[in-house]
Amino acid sequence: MRVIVSGAGLGGLVLAHALRDHAEVVVLDRDASAGDTGGYRIALTPEAVAVVEQHIPARLVDRIRSVSDGPRTFSQFIIADSRLRPIVVAPEPPGQDRMLCQRRALRQILAEGLGDGIRFSSTVASAEAHASGASVTLTDGTRIDGDLVVAADGARSATLRTLAPDTSADTGLVGIAGSTPLTRGVRFPRYLDRGPALAVDRLGTGMFLSLTSRGLSSIPADLADAVGPPSLVWGLIARRQALPDVREAGPEELALTASALVRRWHPWMQDAILGSAADRTAAFSFRAADPSAPRFPWAPCRITAIGDAVHAMPPTGGRAGATAIRSAGALADALIAEPDTDAAVARYQSRVDEWARPAIVESLGPVRVIAALRHPLAQLLAGPALGVAGALGAAAYRRRVRAAAER
Ligand SMILES: Cc1cc2nc3c(=O)[nH]c(=O)nc-3n(C[C@H](O)[C@H](O)[C@H](O)COP(=O)(O)OP(=O)(O)OC[C@H]3O[C@@H](n4cnc5c(N)ncnc54)[C@H](O)[C@@H]3O)c2cc1C
Repeated sequence: MRVIVSGAGLGGLVLAHALRDHAEVVVLDRDASAGDTGGYRIALTPEAVAVVEQHIPARLVDRIRSVSDGPRTFSQFIIADSRLRPIVVAPEPPGQDRMLCQRRALRQILAEGLGDGIRFSSTVASAEAHASGASVTLTDGTRIDGDLVVAADGARSATLRTLAPDTSADTGLVGIAGSTPLTRGVRFPRYLDRGPALAVDRLGTGMFLSLTSRGLSSIPADLADAVGPPSLVWGLIARRQALPDVREAGPEELALTASALVRRWHPWMQDAILGSAADRTAAFSFRAADPSAPRFPWAPCRITAIGDAVHAMPPTGGRAGATAIRSAGALADALIAEPDTDAAVARYQSRVDEWARPAIVESLGPVRVIAALRHPLAQLLAGPALGVAGALGAAAYRRRVRAAAER
């Protein structure tokens, strides 16, 4: 069997590893190399880690672990107010096996061991299904045939353009994210030592905060650049109308725009944003699939899809990478177990919503809160509520930390 995978992102690369002993796999990506990408910390859930453990060679799993933050760095999730005072502390179940690593490092490792099965600088323009197979056409006109084409090329997939052009929609939110090395004397709330936080102000501006790459003692030399120094990762989320058009903005302008939106927040926040590394400051728009819509709105054929191509979700739940990897594992399992390709694809497609729909719904939670705060009345009510909750939450949090320390 010959499988053409469009997109060498997290899902596409895991699928290629999983099928390497069962099919000829050709992975196509528009990037020039695996390291030619951006991104911040990707959190893999225990279910996604299980897929990685099952399908990725042990040597590569060890390399992923060598660049992953330990489970202690995700033992809780905090919702905070704009003074960065905790409002809600949600502990994570203890003992969970997670991988928390830089997207670029993870992608570089996943691209290893696939030989010339990966073809970089290959941009897919379209795909077409035939009676017993499918083909893709690249932007340079090259046509590549296979028994199955898998769209793993992210939201607004070119591979699905004719089958299903609208598998996701713009949420109306824009993100500006950066990574600020901790070596510059940057200050941050101590609760980040134990897990990430989402801070929200009464106008509906959100800020994701997490610490990354601290205490990694054995980073392989060839991955040091991709991992980067110990850093505070910050991600501003705002309604598009609250920002100037940042599509053409450079890193400095993006940092200035983000810092202007949080000028009334705790002063630490502005300092951190302005210290962001230029090569790790970028803007994103957030898309999401409709959780209640069918995931595969086309007649069954030899084109299927994994990851953001069919179940896009904003990074607000930290679930997109993990969900793409689960889908890659499930498609591989179905193709390995079932000799009839059409039946295998049907089996996989019928199961995807078991894990994709809850992940989309969870990721849309913060988006709904931020969107609701566009109304002046909601802002009026949210201001005092967030302030009081923040003050009470901080006191309750301090009590819990004291109690934990005394146990
Ligand atoms: C640059 C970048 C930075 C990101 N940063 C973060 C982050 O910090 N935190 C987070 O939670 N999520 C981040 N994400 C999203 C997260 O990686 C994805 O949601 C998740 O990996 C889903 O996996 P996927 O395999 O569906 O898509 P992805 O991992 O996004 O991979 C899609 C791949 O398809 C390729 N591609 C796209 N179009 C074509 C085409 N026409 N022809 C050939 N190849 C194509 C892309 O180059 C990419 O390599 C980022 C995504 C990207 C692309």
